[in-house]
Amino acid sequence: MTKIYTGGCQCGAVRFRVSGELGKGSICHCRMCQKAFGNFYAPLVSIREGGDLTWTRGQPKRFQSSNMVARGFCAQCGTPLTYETPEGDAIAIGAFDNPAEIVPVIQFGVEGKLPYTDHMADLPTRTTEEDFETAAFLASIVSNQHPDHDTKTWPQASETDNG
Ligand SMILES: [Zn+2]
Ligand SMILES: [Zn+2]
Repeated sequence: MTKIYTGGCQCGAVRFRVSGELGKGSICHCRMCQKAFGNFYAPLVSIREGGDLTWTRGQPKRFQSSNMVARGFCAQCGTPLTYETPEGDAIAIGAFDNPAEIVPVIQFGVEGKLPYTDHMADLPTRTTEEDFETAAFLASIVSNQHPDHDTKTWPQASETDNG
């Protein structure tokens, strides 16, 4: 049976489906990936040869970040979505509906690594519920985020999701 992966941007204007096996999950520490994701590094997974990427709702807008690479993102909400080269495409792991199943197995661009990324797991932790000072704010949140599954229509008045 062909494996199917789905995902999309935060607002739901862009949704994708990948059928077939994914390649290696990675994180890239290079400065261009930091900027493109607005983050410490970029978590990406390649689409293997024979794998099929379909845009099931909308299309990403693209920024040609170099002569060889285009970065796809949602023009409505800004979610980073793709890393596209002539040799193939990769998708942002966090954009998948189930990112937990896509495990990074290699780090690229480590010359650009921000030194504190090695110590993230040592930082003090608290859950959202433990954040008492923001309880009233949290209780008032009505999310506009697309849920982690395909929807027939979007936006959907009846569906809510925390975050
Ligand atoms: Zn969006
Ligand atoms: Zn990179």
